[in-house]
Amino acid sequence: MAGSPRPGGRVRSRSRPRSPARSKRSWPGADERRVSTGPVFIGAEIYRASSFGAHHPLAVPRVSTVMDLARALGWLAPGQYRTSPRARPEGLGIWHDPDYVAALMRAEQAQAVEVWTRERYRIGTSDNPIFPEMFRRPATGCGAAMLAAGLLRRGGVVHAPGCGTHHGLPDRANGFCFLNDLAIAILSLRALGIRRIAYLDIDAHHPDGVEHGFGRDPEILMVSVHQAGRWPRTGLAGDRGAGNVYNLPVPAGLNDSEFAHIRDALVRPLVAAFRPEAVILQCGADALAEDPMSRLMLSNNAHADFLHAVRPLAPRLLLTGGGGYNPWSVARLWTRLWGELNGLPMPTRLPPAARQVLRDLSWTRAGRARPPAPGWTDTLADPPRPGPLRREIRELVAMHRARLPQASPGPNVAGKAPGPG
Ligand SMILES: [Zn+2]
Repeated sequence: MAGSPRPGGRVRSRSRPRSPARSKRSWPGADERRVSTGPVFIGAEIYRASSFGAHHPLAVPRVSTVMDLARALGWLAPGQYRTSPRARPEGLGIWHDPDYVAALMRAEQAQAVEVWTRERYRIGTSDNPIFPEMFRRPATGCGAAMLAAGLLRRGGVVHAPGCGTHHGLPDRANGFCFLNDLAIAILSLRALGIRRIAYLDIDAHHPDGVEHGFGRDPEILMVSVHQAGRWPRTGLAGDRGAGNVYNLPVPAGLNDSEFAHIRDALVRPLVAAFRPEAVILQCGADALAEDPMSRLMLSNNAHADFLHAVRPLAPRLLLTGGGGYNPWSVARLWTRLWGELNGLPMPTRLPPAARQVLRDLSWTRAGRARPPAPGWTDTLADPPRPGPLRREIRELVAMHRARLPQASPGPNVAGKAPGPG
């Protein structure tokens, strides 16, 4: 936590060592100076009972299930868990318009908005509804982003599954995102002098909010793999930004083999050539086959392998959540990735306490209860979902590879397509 504020901005007592200029205590993570000894998990209890409303895709529990599942597995040692602070309104001003933040806070307090507020700020809509924690919950995600930046100052790995609100815009809500904790993470790292950041987004949707903020920043590499034609319909393959934007709008049905080709033929060499000081990986769970909000067909092996591929490419890694609307697949993915970051063996069958966490979940869609499929309550790792490497994917990757500095010949893609379709 940031500790108590200095009343009236008075100068701190000389009995305490002075901080270097860059570590002035201006946000929750700013005074973290320890060298990380292992991955850190940032969670918060606010997610446990919070819902966007019974009919909203974010009615399902997500972060709290990850916390419970990781604890049930014995994967969350006390020293690894940090409670996210809540960002203060003035701290959000590094990215967000103060008038918008004030409107969001008023809406939370009143649990209602005027028509002009809804039209101006897009809050109180069906996508971005009024709910009890509508400011505190996203502000907790932003606090996690600030804390993560401080923890990563000297290097390390942080998993913040409550972060990942990549659609948020400076002055309005967008696509279930009231605030943009990824923009806050980037700017918080920047404030610590960390300039070159690779932002990688493998959510099923294009991160329009993050690209809005950083698509023209040549020191931010932006890579997004998302389903073509899906909301927000931005993220076209031809977008270049300042030359740093690589969008991969992929067709429905994206399989593990195709994702591996994107990873090995493009993302890994691209990020390696960029030489980032930090990687931010937005790992939304909605590209998984069983997610209701997209038509991509990945298994969670795709995400785990991608994480392992990019982790060595920078001294700092922030892994976040994002979309993901099937409560079982979200919890299994984000918990699995925490285990992967810690080098833990994946159990072939979960122990009883962990199974119980997953069995206690319920999911209702369109007024009907959806039971878990076999395997969703007993395992973390999905069966692989390989498939043919389609021409659209090969061409997309080849197009972007041609932009790489000193592009080298790609792998023998003809030999990469496994199995029957
Ligand atoms: Zn998404």
